[in-house]
Amino acid sequence: MNVYDATRMVDVLTPLGYRCTEKPEDADLVILNTCHIREKAAEKIYSELGRLRAQKEIRNGGPQPMMIGVAGCVAQAEGAEMLRRAPYVDLVFGPQTYHRLPEMVARAHRAATDRKAQDRGIIDTEFPVEPKFDSLPVATSQGPSAFLTIQEGCDRFCAFCVVPYTRGAEFSRPVADVVTEARSLVAAGAREITLLGQNVNAYHGFSPTGGEWRLAALIEELVGISELARLRYTTSHPRDMSPDLIEAHGKVDVLMPYLHLPVQSGSDNVLSAMNRQHSAADYLAILDALRAARPDIALSSDFIVGHPGETDEDFEATLALVEQVGYAQAYSFKYSPRPGTPASAMEDVVPEAVKSERLARLQGLLNKQQIEFNEGFVGELVPVLLDRYGRRDSQLAGRSPWMQAVHVDFESAAGAQSAYGTVVDVQIISAHPNSLAAVPVNSARTAGQEPATV
Ligand code: SAH
Ligand code: SF4
Repeated sequence: MNVYDATRMVDVLTPLGYRCTEKPEDADLVILNTCHIREKAAEKIYSELGRLRAQKEIRNGGPQPMMIGVAGCVAQAEGAEMLRRAPYVDLVFGPQTYHRLPEMVARAHRAATDRKAQDRGIIDTEFPVEPKFDSLPVATSQGPSAFLTIQEGCDRFCAFCVVPYTRGAEFSRPVADVVTEARSLVAAGAREITLLGQNVNAYHGFSPTGGEWRLAALIEELVGISELARLRYTTSHPRDMSPDLIEAHGKVDVLMPYLHLPVQSGSDNVLSAMNRQHSAADYLAILDALRAARPDIALSSDFIVGHPGETDEDFEATLALVEQVGYAQAYSFKYSPRPGTPASAMEDVVPEAVKSERLARLQGLLNKQQIEFNEGFVGELVPVLLDRYGRRDSQLAGRSPWMQAVHVDFESAAGAQSAYGTVVDVQIISAHPNSLAAVPVNSARTAGQEPATV
C-alpha cells in the first residue's frame, strides 16, 4: 500500500511542477514513505534521515533548498516526536492526509526560503472527515501491473498489530470510484490490477444500485473492463473469506489462482492470544473450499514466531500446519512489540534467541516448499504478464498467474520491446528459489488476452 500511496503522492505533486528523480541529492523534496508494522522498519527511518540531513545542509543557503518530508505510519505514530528527534524535517504527515500535500509543500517552501517565516516543521496527522480519495486527482500510469487501494484501515484489532491505530478505522471506497480508477489505470496501460486493503476482503463499498457490495461483487463488476487481463487482491483476513468470494475464485477467469491469506500461527492458543478470531481448523477448512473452487490455487501466508505465550508445542503446531498446507511462498517475522498494542503488555515474552531459532526453522521449511513449488513448473507453458525490463535488452520479467517472478529471454531486443506490457506464453526452462527462467513459445499476444490453457 505504501507503493500505491507513493504513486498517488506523485499524482498530487505533478501539477505543482514536481517530477521523480532517481537520486535524493537531485531532489528539491524528498519524501520518506514509512512503515510502522515492526520496530526494525521504524528505526530505519532515523538513520535514513541522518543521511538526508547531510545532503540538505549542502544545499542550505543556496537558491533551491532541499525539503524533507516523512509520510506514512511512522509519521502518523511519531508526530511531533519526529520533529524533536529530527528538527531539520520540514513535513510530517500521516497516510490519511497526503491529498493536502500542495498546501503543506507551499507552507514548507515558504519556511525554507524565508528566514523570518515562523511556520517551520509542518505536522498533519489528522484523520480528516473529508476522505482523501475524494480529493485526489485521477490516477495516472503505473505501468502494466497496477495497485488500487479499495479499502483502508482495520477494525479487527489483532493483539500484535499497530495498523488499526496508524491507518485508522476501516473504510471502503465506493464501487463507482474504484471502477473509475480501474478504468483510468487500464487506459494508461495496466493489464493487471491488484486491489489493496489492510483487510481487503472486509470490503463493503457503496454500490451504484444502492446498498453495499462486498468484494466478490466488486470483482464481478471489474471483469467488465475488457482490457483488464488479471485481477488480484491483498491482504485478506480468514474471517472475511466469505463463500461468495471463495466461489468467485472458481468462476472469474481473470482472478488469478493465487491467494495471500495470512494465518500467523498454527496453534489455537496463540491464535486466541492474537485475537485472530478463528482456529487453525477454520483456516484449513477455508483452504479446502478454495481448492475445491480452484484446484490450482497457490497459497501464501504471513507468520509471526515468538508471539507472547508461544510455547515449543505451539510452534510445532505452526510447522505442522505449514506441512499440511504446502505454501507457494510466505513471509515470516519475529514478533516485534508495537507501542500501544495489547500484545506489547502481555507477559510470557519469548526470548530473542528462541524467536531466532524458530524463525530459522520455519523459514527453512517455507523455502523448501517454495523451491519444490517452483521446480514443479520446469517444462510447463505459463502465461506471463511482462511488466519489467530485464538485465539485458533482450530480457523482460513479469509474474506468472501464481505470482512467481519469471525472467524471459527473447531472441532479440526488438522482440522483447514489442512484448512489454502484454501477456505472453512462455516455457519454463529452469527454476530458482525466488524466480523462474523462461523463453517465449509464441510471438507476443495482443495486450489483455490471457492464453486459454496452461
Ligand atoms: N491484515 C493482514 C496483515 C497486515 S500486517 C492480516 O490480517 O493478516 C502484515 C504482516 O505483518 C502481518 O500479517 C503479520 O504477519 C506481520 N506483523 C504485524 N504486526 C507484527 C508485529 N507486531 N510483529 C511481527 N510481525 C507483525
Ligand atoms: Fe492488523 Fe490485519 Fe489484524 Fe487488521 S486484521 S489488526 S491489519 S493483522
